[in-house]
Amino acid sequence: MAEPCIKVDQLRVIYNKGKSNEVRSLDGVSVEIYPEEYIIIYGPSGCGKSTLLYGISGLQAPSYGDVVVQGKNLAQMSKREKVEFHQTSIGMVFQAFYLIETLTVLDNVCLPKVFRGEGLKERREKAMELLRRFGIAEQADRFPAQLSGGQKQRVSIARALVNNPDIILADEPVGNLDSESAQNVLDIFKEINGQDKKTLIMVTHNPDHLVYADRIIHMKDGKKVSEEINHDKRPKEALKKEIAETPEEISSELKLLMRTFKNLSLQQVGVLLIPFKAKQLLSHIISELNEEQISSAENILKEFLFKNIDSGLLAEKLDLDFDKGGAGWNKMRAVSFTDRVQKIIAQTEYLNREEEASVVNFSDYLTSTYHLKLDEDIVLRFRAFIKLRTENKIDRFGLQQRLDAPKTLGGVGLYKGTAEKVVREVELIMLLKYSA
Ligand code: ADP
Ligand code: MG
Repeated sequence: MAEPCIKVDQLRVIYNKGKSNEVRSLDGVSVEIYPEEYIIIYGPSGCGKSTLLYGISGLQAPSYGDVVVQGKNLAQMSKREKVEFHQTSIGMVFQAFYLIETLTVLDNVCLPKVFRGEGLKERREKAMELLRRFGIAEQADRFPAQLSGGQKQRVSIARALVNNPDIILADEPVGNLDSESAQNVLDIFKEINGQDKKTLIMVTHNPDHLVYADRIIHMKDGKKVSEEINHDKRPKEALKKEIAETPEEISSELKLLMRTFKNLSLQQVGVLLIPFKAKQLLSHIISELNEEQISSAENILKEFLFKNIDSGLLAEKLDLDFDKGGAGWNKMRAVSFTDRVQKIIAQTEYLNREEEASVVNFSDYLTSTYHLKLDEDIVLRFRAFIKLRTENKIDRFGLQQRLDAPKTLGGVGLYKGTAEKVVREVELIMLLKYSA
């Protein structure tokens, strides 16, 4: 059973104590938080959410009570330990970003590393890796004032992660963002909790965010009113069991394998090794690319979808070596892949313009991509069905049924396998088109 990484015990924060304007910002709050949890502190404005978060971060000293993080009581830390704690154990993200306007994006992200006295090259590499991951690598040399709010927040998340802390604290991180940028930041948080296994504590007053949390701390008037486990998410008990089953000693055979497969984790040894093996086998045979080549390509594709780079640069970067920030593919693969991506993107752009001709164009594109041989009257039928789907009047199953059904029964009469492939491409394009 995992131990809590954060224990807050009867925390009280009182301002102007004993005066007429005394405020009890926190009035005896106790909370335990476990490693890898996604916690949301939720409640109306002024209820003490930020005070609790700053109490956990050590930025706000308690009037009474204790805060213990990773086994250490914050009140008993020396100044030096506190600095070390802020640099390496927790990362913070704020509503107002708090970027330094006179530093470039890259230097802002590197800043926590500068204080740790790391070499220039090393810290820039780590920072660039994060900028690439969040689709802001092209902004590396710009200044904060030149960025959108969403980009600024992605920079501040990169800064919070650069020293690889186990715990991330975020105070209303999407409060200043438009809905698309907000969603993007929420997706990033989900990923750093789910994939990077960071313990995440987010303060919000927006009920739409609650679905992301494993557990919600409800607050009112400086008190915790209740705790709620989000049962729709994977229960943490299962997670704890996985950790418990991890063997103490790992074999040298496994150690060597872990050098090759960098994303093979100890948690996977045991039941989770089979899915991992399946994934490796698949990427090896289907794409002939290794996982690193795939994950780098994924990051570069993100930059492309964020419109930070154009298709020319996409092909170039896929081809480029790893150490130059590329995906380590070869030229031919990079070019043909980019060509396919461009064709798909062109269709999403056509469809977004909602022109009458766009469905015809889209149908023709599908016909030629999948080498469909359709009679003249069936072409019209095919277009009509594609139109129904693009207008969201039918779902993927409705479309598949119509493409699969025999012509005599009003369908298009495609082979089942072909119908499936066409439908998958249509669904992908619908996804890319969605709020694009
Ligand atoms: P929330 O983040 O939930 O909106 P806060 O934790 O910021 O709430 O504040 C809780 C209460 O403490 C509020 O009533 C606020 O006015 C008060 N408060 C916060 N900081 C101070 C301060 N420095 N001096 C006096 N009162 C404060
Ligand atoms: Mg607040």
